[in-house]
Amino acid sequence: MHKPIKPSLFSLDYQDLIQICDELDVSPVHAKKVMGKVFRYGAFDLENIPDFPKKLLHWLQENTSLDLPEIIANQQAEDSTQKLLMRMADNKDVESVLIPAENRMTQCISSQVGCAIGCEFCLTATAGLTRNLTAAEMMQQVLVAHRTLGYFPRNIVMMGMGEPLHNYEHVAKFVRMVTHELSMALSPRRVTISTAGLVPAIYRMLDDDLPCSLAVSLNATTNEVRNKIMPINQKYPLEDLLEVMKKYVGQRSKKRILIEYVLLAGINDTMDDAKRLRDIALSLGSTVNILPFNPFMGSRFTRPSDEVIDMFRNYLNDAGVVAVVRISKGREISAACGQLKTEVNQRAANLKLQRSKTS
Ligand code: SAH
Repeated sequence: MHKPIKPSLFSLDYQDLIQICDELDVSPVHAKKVMGKVFRYGAFDLENIPDFPKKLLHWLQENTSLDLPEIIANQQAEDSTQKLLMRMADNKDVESVLIPAENRMTQCISSQVGCAIGCEFCLTATAGLTRNLTAAEMMQQVLVAHRTLGYFPRNIVMMGMGEPLHNYEHVAKFVRMVTHELSMALSPRRVTISTAGLVPAIYRMLDDDLPCSLAVSLNATTNEVRNKIMPINQKYPLEDLLEVMKKYVGQRSKKRILIEYVLLAGINDTMDDAKRLRDIALSLGSTVNILPFNPFMGSRFTRPSDEVIDMFRNYLNDAGVVAVVRISKGREISAACGQLKTEVNQRAANLKLQRSKTS
């Protein structure tokens, strides 16, 4: 018989912990202690918390699990970027990438197993959506990073597998947890949700005043091109997307939106594209991240030449837009997101094939 799976302790935020303390009739100060132990220091030995009520300890031990996903692959690049593949409790695999930058570690988090948005240039899209990840499973990715590095990353980007705004509730809970003052206390500027452009959910972020930053994968400057590469544009066309982006920037005066732009040869890489992108970026005060297309097997797109990439970037820079080319760190280990997962699954499939041939 299967052991019933206990809910993860990492699904509990401060309010949940206070409520448990209340129900057990112990002081809410112990909720703070749990937050500190687990989410500030990444330590799980609750039994060593000083003056911790046995009642609460037993309740947590009986009713919650401290399990973390297993790392089933860890590919390290020359620049120390690590791409981790983690196996969740239901055997679903998700990727998370640790990217060292000058003085801080950035973690790229997955918000879903697969993705439903269907962007034509994205490997994750080819498999469709399997399921949402819970806030606890996103927290687990951060805790696995802590186990791997010995410290928590200080910068989080939701640019792994999935569309974070298609999993709003869990992503919002996760964002509130990592920015909570008793937890990792990340600055909201250092937690970035990246979206393909789910317009109503961006309005919701505004209404909720979600403590995080926003990046929009614009990827095209006309509806004609955007419709072709991002089917979501047929539902939420460019004019609606730009309108909510303007509202976002206007309403949160100190907030900026990062524009991401996947550069695809012959599709969105002309000087006219660059001009339109300049106008949009200037009107929003946005920085642009240019992501040269990362090819994968079966894809119909190609990466523009280095000359075209440079011209595109230089045009924007000369026009007063901060534009940076992001070569996916550790190209040798990580083409597009979803790549490691595909590689590992491919190897597993080959292995099975060999076994069935020999048996
Ligand atoms: N769904 C979210 C976050 C996940 S994708 C979003 O769309 O923003 C993170 C970034 O990688 C997005 O900007 C996306 O456009 C880009 N991307 C996806 N596939 C890519 C590829 N093959 N090459 C380069 N960038 C890619």
